[in-house]
Parts: sequence; structure tokens; C-alpha cells
Amino acid sequence: MAKQDYYDTLGVKKDASADDLKKAYRKLAMKFHPDRNPDNKDAEAKFKDVTEAYEVLKDDQKRAAYDRFGHAAFENGGPGGGQGGFSGGFDFGGGGLGDIFDQMFGGAMGGGRQRQRGGADLRAGVEIDLTEAFAGTKVNLRVPSRVTCEACTGTGSEDKAKGSETCATCQGHGRVRSQQGFFMVERTCPTCNGAGRTIRNPCKVCRGAGTVQRERTLQVSIPAGVEDGTRIRLSGEGEAGGQGLPNGDLYVHVSVRPHPIFERQDAHISIRVPVRMTQAALGGEVEVPVIDGTKAKVKIPAGTQTGDQFRLRGKGFSVLRSPARGDMYIQVMVETPKNLTAKQKELLEQFEATNTKDDGGKTNPESEGFFAKVKEFFEGRS
Ligand SMILES: [Zn+2]
Ligand SMILES: [Zn+2]
Repeated sequence: MAKQDYYDTLGVKKDASADDLKKAYRKLAMKFHPDRNPDNKDAEAKFKDVTEAYEVLKDDQKRAAYDRFGHAAFENGGPGGGQGGFSGGFDFGGGGLGDIFDQMFGGAMGGGRQRQRGGADLRAGVEIDLTEAFAGTKVNLRVPSRVTCEACTGTGSEDKAKGSETCATCQGHGRVRSQQGFFMVERTCPTCNGAGRTIRNPCKVCRGAGTVQRERTLQVSIPAGVEDGTRIRLSGEGEAGGQGLPNGDLYVHVSVRPHPIFERQDAHISIRVPVRMTQAALGGEVEVPVIDGTKAKVKIPAGTQTGDQFRLRGKGFSVLRSPARGDMYIQVMVETPKNLTAKQKELLEQFEATNTKDDGGKTNPESEGFFAKVKEFFEGRS
């Protein structure tokens, strides 16, 4: 079923102002709110639709994306497959339907939900070389973060034994209600900031928060075989929760710098090696670098061409959580010599003279084959 246009859903024009949107949403949300329409599935669906429409249109960035791409902006990771900030499709932000309604009306209808919140999750990025990704490495991260206050051991109180007490303003609910005209308005308690508890004798170092802002140094182990774009989660290494609440997590995003010699393809490595024209013609051995810091020898048979590929088994990239390794592919690039000395020029001219005699196409089969086709092409036209 085709989805209704968000502007139509809210009954507003495409150029509606933020205020128009808010008014339209307020009217419809009040009309269809589940508390006013118990056991009415249609009303519930309408309430969801108008909330979704408003959620998108109230946000300038999302509204611009919607104006440009329509509903496709929020489906399957958005236009272009996840570029832009809307990957994952439409999402009520984990808070469920009604959060936005509560923000607007202060929980007038549904009553406040109390969610226990710990410290915030943190994100950090590290950039490593391909050789480090191959062998695995340890990276020291400096994380600006809230950490547990040492002075009060996180209780937030100078008096560690007593710590906190139930907030007198909200009786521990964390929210307070008051009548404002038509609405019963519920707000976060101004005394305890929603924590539901107040500190009797606040710690002088953290002023009662139980946490302080500090830069921590954290050593992160990057496993061998890690890929560019890998996300490593360090549980509990995010911001400290304080006052007995759980810590957030730390997410480390690993990016791997491109290497000037080696190119990675999953567990394999490819490398382009220039080979002298004479080496390619006569055959020989070339020495190539290996990602593990060693060297390997590759036999080049006589008559090797540009683009010919040789494989060294087990000399490729490391495989994550495994001792196995992929292979290394050596791609040959035959180099035509430049800036010849008089002697070299003379030798090559002598060589070229031998080249012209008819040998049945054995020396230069590619050229022989090509010119035979060219001949056919012109004959076919006449
Ligand atoms: Zn403290
Ligand atoms: Zn309170």
C-alpha cells in the first residue's frame, strides 16, 4: 500500500512553517491520541501516522531529504544506500511512540515514563596502517570522558555513608506535574534534574554529580586481520554513570590507511611489480616484499607479458581470529626502457633487425595475430 504524503497526513501545504506544522500536529495528535480513543485501532494508526509525519517534517534536515526523495529517503538506508544520516530507515529513536508527544505536551496524556539511564556511549576513531591491520596492534586512545569522582567514590556526597536521599520536590518520581490551562503539564523535576534523589551534602569536587570530566588514556587491542570500517565495542568504557548507574560503552571505529605497495582484497593481497623488458623476455627471478616484512622470490618465465599474474600461497593477509593467511597475487607490468644509451640503442636496433624476418609469428604472436586480423578487416571492406 502506498504511503500517504506526510504533508497530506498533517493537512498542511508543502511550504508550511514550523509553527503551522506544530499547530496541525497538535490538533491531530490530540484528536487521535490512544488515551482518548481506547481500543480504536484506526485512531491508533492515525496517531502513529501523524506522529511519524511530524517527526520528519519538524526536522529541517529530514524534511529536506523527504522533499527531495519522498518516503524513499527513509527506506533501506535512504537514497544511495546509506549515505547521509538516515540509514536504518525510520526510527522512533528507541523511545517508542509518544516521546515526541511528551516533549511537546509534557506528558499531558500518557504520564511520564521513567527510564534508568547510565553514562553516555562514546565514539572514537583510530587510523592504522595496513601492516598494523595485518599483524594486529595496540592503540592508546585519549578519551575525553566523565569518570567516577574519586573524592566521593561516585556517591556525589561529601558524606559517603549517607549519600543521597529521596528528592522532596518530586518524592523520587523525577518529574513534577502542574495544571496549565487545559493541560496537565509534566516536567523533569527542577530540584533533582530527574534523578529522583538529591545529595544531602554535595561533594565539593563534582558538585554532587558523582562524575568528573577527565581525559582518560585507554589501550585498545586491534586484532590481526581487522578490516577498514570495523567497529570495536568496549563494554562499560563509555562515560561513567555516576550515583550507582551503569557506565556507557565505547565504540572504536577503525580505519585502515591505504598502503603504497600492497592492496588488500579480503584475505588476499595484490601487488603490481614492474619487470624489465629483457627480464620478461628472457625469464628470471624477481624479489618482492611481503606484508609480514619478509621478502619472497617469484620466478618469471621467459615471455612474460604485462598483466600476467603469479600467486604466492599463504603470503596474503591475516584472517580475523584465525592463524590462516590468504594468498599474495603478483601482477607483472613490463617496463619499456627509456633514456637509452648509445650502446643500448645500438643493441636494440640490432635486435629489431632480427625481429623483422619472417619466423612464422613465433617471436611476437600477439602482433602477428593482431596484424592478421587487421589485414582481414581491410580485405573484408573492399
Ligand atoms: Zn564527588
Ligand atoms: Zn526531584
